[in-house]
Amino acid sequence: MTPADQRILLDLVDLDRRILVAESTRKNPPQAARIAELTAQKQGQSQELSQRLGARDDVALELSRLESDVKVAAARRQRDQERVATASDPKQAVAFESEIAALTKRLSDLEDAQLVIMERLEEAETAVNEQKAVIDVTNEEGARLTAEARELISKMTSELDELARDRAAVVGRIPEALAKQYDRVGAGLLTRNTCGACNMVLNATDLQEVRATSVHEIANCPSCGAIMVRTEESGL
Ligand SMILES: [Zn+2]
Repeated sequence: MTPADQRILLDLVDLDRRILVAESTRKNPPQAARIAELTAQKQGQSQELSQRLGARDDVALELSRLESDVKVAAARRQRDQERVATASDPKQAVAFESEIAALTKRLSDLEDAQLVIMERLEEAETAVNEQKAVIDVTNEEGARLTAEARELISKMTSELDELARDRAAVVGRIPEALAKQYDRVGAGLLTRNTCGACNMVLNATDLQEVRATSVHEIANCPSCGAIMVRTEESGL
């Protein structure tokens, strides 16, 4: 285990740190939280849209009922008017005239009601369109973030392939036993009396022991067990 071999471990530490970051980014891209938020938001927005659509349909139904009432009353008035024209009995003619007057009043009331309902229908239609626009905004942001996340995931995937190749090359440069030990316990640069793997500060006794360990041997951190790589930076 030459000091140079041990030093190569620092490259492995760096590669493994980058692999961890890339894996975590791939698994949970930064857009994921907002995408989940938008999905939940859209559920509420869709419920609101259903309610508004329902309200609009109710008003539309009310309007179509009024329209058929108008048709019935208008047809009846038409029939009465024809009957008045052909009535031979004056009493009957008077009765028809009075019914025509009542129907005319009813038609005028129905038309007034129709105008009110048409206005309400327009409002209900506007409310539906407004809600659709709200959902469009949510969908747009969701689609944009999903595309961004997908792109990032694919970037991380190729980065991980590259890192895996680099790692294999670095591992190939050190003795197998050292690589195995590294895989088991990790490694860190010993600097300012501190283990680079767990950041524990070594006490005087521990430092004495490290100094007594040949640079061709492995010094393990007394706290985390990691290989403490010693370089000129270690200040021993
Ligand atoms: Zn440590």
